[in-house]
Amino acid sequence: MFEPQLHRRHESQQATVLTYTATTESTTEDDLKRLAEQNGAKKFFLLQPTDILGGGDIVSEKLGTDSYERSTFKGDGLILEEAGSAGMILSADCPTVVMVTRKGLVYILHCGRAALTPIYYGKIGWNIISLAAEKIRDERDAIEGVSVHAGICAKHFRHDHEEARPLVQPFLKCSSKTLDTKNGWTLDLNQVIRESLAGWFNSDEIHLDGVCTHETDSLASFRRKPGCKERNPIIVVKKQRTVLEF
Ligand SMILES: [Zn+2]
Repeated sequence: MFEPQLHRRHESQQATVLTYTATTESTTEDDLKRLAEQNGAKKFFLLQPTDILGGGDIVSEKLGTDSYERSTFKGDGLILEEAGSAGMILSADCPTVVMVTRKGLVYILHCGRAALTPIYYGKIGWNIISLAAEKIRDERDAIEGVSVHAGICAKHFRHDHEEARPLVQPFLKCSSKTLDTKNGWTLDLNQVIRESLAGWFNSDEIHLDGVCTHETDSLASFRRKPGCKERNPIIVVKKQRTVLEF
């Protein structure tokens, strides 16, 4: 039976972000569409996250709108352009980051450990956040606001086992606040997101919902329940089309 409850609703000028309680493995694309439809969506795009270090593709909904046949995208970023479009992700522990731009585009980013891992070109580390920010800059657009939804907190994201350490070693090049090797090799994904945004984004206008998936029984968490099949549906609906010339 598919009956997720709304866990959180976050409204910004351009987007409504809805976090639902965990659902089992039987969750289908149609189930997610139904939830999105209840929130005013008319077009639907499902993002299937990758485990590519530094982040997979960032795709625009426009790739799917010609035929309406393509509604599922493999990647770690989805760009909504039309009012009434919904982006949908199934997640457990990985924060979802939503960036709204001045031109009114909505970027939805899957920000797990892999996608946030900095890939170094010379001295500069790039990940899914900087890839999106660069794309926004290249489009002569700018980030207007950022929100971060339902992710595991630092305390519960330990990598103190021998075999886990190499996975987080690249984060040592970020600030010391990102990976705390003194206290169980805990990785602070929210801090990585903040640091990755610095330089692209001038303001402190980041909304963090502060929800730790591990601490919230109604949400799925791989860390709380290893191997779990449940997922948290995250649905982002783009609101009115507003284009600001600047
Ligand atoms: Zn926690």
